[in-house]
Amino acid sequence: MSERMILSLILKAVENIPLIEKGDDIAEIIFKNAPDIADKDIIVIASTIVSKSLGLTFLESDIIPGAEAERIAAANGKDPRFVQAILDESIEVFTETPFMLVRNKNGHVCINAGIDASNVGGDFLLTLPEKPDRYAAAIGKAIEEKSGKKISVIITDTNGRAFKEGQTNVAVGLYNIKPIRQWIGEKDLYGKVLEISEEAVVDEIAGAANLIMGEGGDGVPAVIVSGLNLYTDEPVSVTEMYREKEKDLILRGLLELKEK
Ligand code: GDP
Ligand code: MN
Ligand code: MN
Repeated sequence: MSERMILSLILKAVENIPLIEKGDDIAEIIFKNAPDIADKDIIVIASTIVSKSLGLTFLESDIIPGAEAERIAAANGKDPRFVQAILDESIEVFTETPFMLVRNKNGHVCINAGIDASNVGGDFLLTLPEKPDRYAAAIGKAIEEKSGKKISVIITDTNGRAFKEGQTNVAVGLYNIKPIRQWIGEKDLYGKVLEISEEAVVDEIAGAANLIMGEGGDGVPAVIVSGLNLYTDEPVSVTEMYREKEKDLILRGLLELKEK
């Protein structure tokens, strides 16, 4: 039995969070509505409210597309201004059509650089925070100060996946939790030593929390997860999970297709 073995897990919505606007203090708002937060709890926060608090909203009509955006837009049928917004957030483009799969400035590979129109309001679009670990840490440290408890934070976004229909919530920023639980070197039921198992715990937690958040108008952008034993006070980064392109068969294949 491993020291981390658990037999139950509790996930609880943080209720009564208002519609978040630029300048709002997310840590204060979450703490006010979750005053009983405990040591080693994990707060899962939808990136949407982090972005809104940072004012990362914009109007497509304000974007001026360049030649590259016009070229891609002619191929994929999207608005050139929307394509320019995606390019502005991206450091690498893996597919241009039928949709844009890109690596954003933080290294996260996703469709449209995570630019989202849902749960933003009006005609506004929203981008992901550029330094999500930094905001996870800022929110986490502020809640630790207010509560006197040691906690972890996972900032999330909803992403599609290769090979399968359907989206799941994934981690895009971390504080006080390692992204991957190492099983290599541990034993299976029969004593065989595990050689390749690495469990992406932060994505699993993000997915579980999304069962409460949903994707629509439920108004639950934060969930408290209690009962796991994954707290660390070592420095962590979500980028530890991002596979290098050289080692990623699928990304390399997509780039080869693009060159043809
Ligand atoms: P994303 O996955 O980060 O893009 O976020 P979603 O748009 O899927 O929203 C996740 C959850 O947060 C849903 O329950 C939304 O209704 C909720 N949500 C998004 N923005 C706000 C907000 O400003 N206030 C509140 N109370 N809930 C929000
Ligand atoms: Mn999103
Ligand atoms: Mn979502």
